[in-house]
Amino acid sequence: MASVELKGLSKHYGAAVAVDDVSLRVEHGQLVCLLGPSGCGKTTTLRLIAGFIEPSSGEIEVGGKVLSSPLRTVPPEGRKMSMIFQSYALWPHMTVAENVAYGLKIRKLDRATIDAKLKAILSTARLEALAERYPGELSGGQQQRVSLARALVVEPETLLLDEPLSNLDAN
Ligand code: ADP
Ligand code: MG
Repeated sequence: MASVELKGLSKHYGAAVAVDDVSLRVEHGQLVCLLGPSGCGKTTTLRLIAGFIEPSSGEIEVGGKVLSSPLRTVPPEGRKMSMIFQSYALWPHMTVAENVAYGLKIRKLDRATIDAKLKAILSTARLEALAERYPGELSGGQQQRVSLARALVVEPETLLLDEPLSNLDAN
């Protein structure tokens, strides 16, 4: 079970405090939103949970195991998580299909499985017609859908979304 627990989590950059003593438990299956003004530490908290940065103090446990502490932080690829970045962070030199399939390739799934999963998620995200385009040839909303498809296709236990729907229609 992928419960996520933050215990007294803080992140400092020199004298600046980005995240200040956050404790939070998210149960398996729960959807939680962090709401607050610009600069209050939402993105930093997500980056801490994903393992892109290490805490200055406190811990992050997933399923009861410590994944982040000031002493030891498991890298992002060692966590069953996907993060959707506010800026999408698509790879500009890869097509839509290559961006979406990348996580499956590094997990070394076989060709037929990759093709089947890719086809299914491109269909769900209504991206089939754009599969061979590059990110620079897409609108903001289309890029956001690619980012969503890339995060979902690997079936993560924990999905982290940084303002992920700001460019999408309600549907
Ligand atoms: P939010 O996502 O809620 O808008 P952030 O988590 O991006 O907020 O930022 C929280 C605070 O931490 C801000 O004051 C920001 O300037 C600061 N901050 C974030 N990342 C860094 C960094 N790498 N170096 C210094 N300060 C940072
Ligand atoms: Mg932010």
